[in-house]
Amino acid sequence: MPTSNDMRKILDIQDKNIVFEDNCVEYTRFKGRKCKMIKGRLTYIPQECIKCQIPNEQYTVYANGTQISRITLPMSGVHPTYLVLKKQRFKCKNCGASFTAKTPVVKENCFISNYVKAQILDKSSMAQSIKDISVQTCVSSATAQRMMNEQAKRYQSTDTWLPKHLSFDEFKYAKGTLAFEYIDAKEGKILDILPSRDSRTIKNHFISCYSLKSRSIVETITVDMNAGYVNLIPTLFPNAKIIIDRFHIVQLINRSLNRTRITIMNRLHTSDEEDMKKNRRLKRFWKKILKKESELSYTTYHYYTMFGLRLESALIDELLSYDATLKETYEVYQAILKAIDKNEYDELVDLLKNDYPLISQAMKTSLKTLRKHLKHIKNTFIYPYSNGKIEGINNKIKVLNRVAYGSRNFTNYKNRILLHFNQKPQHEQNEKTLSTAA
Ligand SMILES: [Zn+2]
Repeated sequence: MPTSNDMRKILDIQDKNIVFEDNCVEYTRFKGRKCKMIKGRLTYIPQECIKCQIPNEQYTVYANGTQISRITLPMSGVHPTYLVLKKQRFKCKNCGASFTAKTPVVKENCFISNYVKAQILDKSSMAQSIKDISVQTCVSSATAQRMMNEQAKRYQSTDTWLPKHLSFDEFKYAKGTLAFEYIDAKEGKILDILPSRDSRTIKNHFISCYSLKSRSIVETITVDMNAGYVNLIPTLFPNAKIIIDRFHIVQLINRSLNRTRITIMNRLHTSDEEDMKKNRRLKRFWKKILKKESELSYTTYHYYTMFGLRLESALIDELLSYDATLKETYEVYQAILKAIDKNEYDELVDLLKNDYPLISQAMKTSLKTLRKHLKHIKNTFIYPYSNGKIEGINNKIKVLNRVAYGSRNFTNYKNRILLHFNQKPQHEQNEKTLSTAA
């Protein structure tokens, strides 16, 4: 028969005041599942009365009955495991107060062991659904959610000061709904998430959470080009420079060149054999057209389907020769890309000054957008900040949405995101927090 000490080791219980006797493990059914009930006893001699603090000398505090509670433990083996703990009750002769023996295994008035709690939080940092977490830890979804919400409070920013560099973005969280998110552009820390990205929500949030003095500290805010809230920024953040994210500038012209290629490709979809050949080539080599000119090979011959042995640069020349609009649009695209790559703002300004009658309508529209935002694009060339960190966060949120999205409640959802990004999914860390807690 294992000793009490062995049982404690099996269950990872460090509290020596919990003792186990022979035949303490019983199989039974609970909440419709087969489970293990482990009977234990918690007792010790208290140092003092917890109410009046009188030292326990000459049996001032004496044992007075017991109280049983059922505590959820981490699963041991394959069945849900519970500790049926008979806790000693005490009574104080001095003040007449009664109290129950305490243990670090579980918080007062709580029926879920600290280890289970740690497991829930550990799993919440991974992309797992709340339902899976609740099944694996044998607690209800509501309880798991409550624990996550409690823990997430730690990561909710209560700071009344803003960092100097912010990054704004939005992401989808429910069907068609966009949430607004802002982070510290330098540290990549999520500062807050709002349920909507409309101007009123954003304005109210920043005004109620931060003083004008705090908002005046903000030096730069990196945003998307199409962000509707750009106009709000000067009133909310009087000293902030708006930076249009570099990636979005490239994406804008990249999309319009691609759209141009598709239009021309479709136009070549005719009964003519020669046109169809061009159509197929433009379809297949779409990536080459978008590739930076500086990265094309001018020296190495390769075998290309539908072309044969060619230089990469020659292949591009041939594709562009099919249509004058495509060629012109391509050249403007490459020139802008080059200016951005070399960080030459003046060069970009010069490029945008020109009129390009031959380029596609899609590219014309993009150039117009660039001209409209030129003032902010200038900042892109000056400051090193980008939306890279916030885009990275959003990609992870997408994964989380796919596997773990189960709540229509925005607060729960936000808390989950905060845990996902702030809580490190490391068992060692849980052990550390637990051993300090114990
Ligand atoms: Zn007392």
